[in-house]
Amino acid sequence: KLSKRLETVASFVPTGAVVADIGSDHAYLPCYLVQQGIVSQAVAGEVVKGPYESALRQVRAEGLLDHIQVRLADGLAAIEQDDRVDTVTIAGMGGPLIVSILEKHPEVLTSVTRLILQPNIHAKVIREWALAHGWAVLDEVILEEDDKIYEILVLQKGAMQLTEAEILLGTHLIAQHTAVFVKKWTKEIDNWQRILQDLNRAEATPDIQAKREELQQLIQLVEGV
Ligand code: SAM
Repeated sequence: KLSKRLETVASFVPTGAVVADIGSDHAYLPCYLVQQGIVSQAVAGEVVKGPYESALRQVRAEGLLDHIQVRLADGLAAIEQDDRVDTVTIAGMGGPLIVSILEKHPEVLTSVTRLILQPNIHAKVIREWALAHGWAVLDEVILEEDDKIYEILVLQKGAMQLTEAEILLGTHLIAQHTAVFVKKWTKEIDNWQRILQDLNRAEATPDIQAKREELQQLIQLVEGV
């Protein structure tokens, strides 16, 4: 059975899309998408040999070799023009790694209309990247599974404006204001307050003073939301 995390990623894949799942590991997501009849063609990309082989083994075991192209490649280089990929999923990595994958082969994204990204941490850098590269956040989800909190961002091409708070927390997530969202940011604030207390005990050098002000602003920003 697919994790709730990947099932939620799958729920944002449009019916009939051609999907590339980058960093696919066991290719669970593309296999699920084909088996559910959501897509009929997909690419599973992996840059590491071990996971690439697991993906290939899984796709073969499920009898889906005609539907899923498993490729050993770095990031978006797994996608070929003839694939006609219109949707890209990248899940289970940190935000900065996801952004570095998106930035490495930008030409591939010209014909892509939807990105479904699930950063384990630092979703903020994805919103910053989207803002700077002509993508808008269509939807967002925050969810908890096995004591971990995940965010999923759905992007489509377009312009958007985000406040500093929205870049950090997500416009849609702020609006939804779910219990998981409150839990995540309460924990973050607690963390920052703990660091602040340590800094207050330290000698007040200009560096420490600056760090303190930065944290205070951050706490204020999130508490304001
Ligand atoms: N996407 C799956 C999921 O969400 O369950 C697997 C996540 S796994 C933690 C991350 C995978 O991304 C690893 O298998 C890793 O080899 C792969 N990966 C990391 N950098 C990559 C890159 N530049 N191109 C393709 N795959 C990459």
